[in-house]
Amino acid sequence: MNLEGKIVLVTGASSGIGQATALALSQAGAKVAVGARRADRLKLLAEDAPGEILTLDLDVTDQQSIQDAVAATVGHFGRLDALVNNAGIMLSGMILGADTTEWSRMVDTNLLGSMYAVHAALPHLLESKGTVVQVSSTSGRIASAAGAAYSATKFGITGFIESLRQEVTTQGVRVVVVEPGFVATELAGHITDPAMQAMAKTMADSIRTLQPDDIAAAVVYALNQPDHVSVNELLIRPTDQL
Ligand code: NDP
Repeated sequence: MNLEGKIVLVTGASSGIGQATALALSQAGAKVAVGARRADRLKLLAEDAPGEILTLDLDVTDQQSIQDAVAATVGHFGRLDALVNNAGIMLSGMILGADTTEWSRMVDTNLLGSMYAVHAALPHLLESKGTVVQVSSTSGRIASAAGAAYSATKFGITGFIESLRQEVTTQGVRVVVVEPGFVATELAGHITDPAMQAMAKTMADSIRTLQPDDIAAAVVYALNQPDHVSVNELLIRPTDQL
């Protein structure tokens, strides 16, 4: 896998899939800008990576913060070849009695945050004939009980990304949606409902989950294709997950 000379911005790179992806991209030769709110985690990532890493304070719910991150990436490296739109949160729970501020946080982060990032990066990606990699989810294809608001954000972003694909593919910009099943990360640790927390733990303990590296490898694969090949969708589940 050779991404020598490519410049990639990864959002949500301070843990889990984003962190593993940033490392894998660096190992493949890319120069990587990494954004998230936990700057200490990004600093450790930069120390571990074999190639050059630019760390960025990024809150994707703040449109200005995203614009600044894209501008800083292009300012530092001179171009942008790929955006990996990965930052996300999952606050699972039933609709009845839900704390709707959690819905707002998920919409702001998973849906609007990803949309703002595309908006900010697109002029640069049109120039470089680059790629958008959107981390969606199996929850963006199949909704289930206790996942309503999270699924709404992931169905939403998958729709947005398909529109984007149709707007830019003939201009040489490729668009990839990655839809992981259960990956062992910190994601479920932010769920506030104890019953939902317990369900996620039971699931994690009962199957061989995916690891962040499994998804990172898929992102590197998609970015490694020749210009005329556009890998539009990658659905990756643990073998043990229904
Ligand atoms: P983690 O919780 O490990 O990582 C989430 C990342 O998103 C962190 O780096 C976090 O950084 C970042 N993030 C959250 N909110 C913001 C924000 N407002 N601004 C900037 N960054 C933010 O979980 P995963 O690695 O599992 O999640 C990554 C993506 O993968 C998400 O989009 C998730 O929906 C998706 N996914 C995960 C699956 C799983 O089973 N784990 C399955 C399917 C999809 P920080 O807190 O430092 O800002």
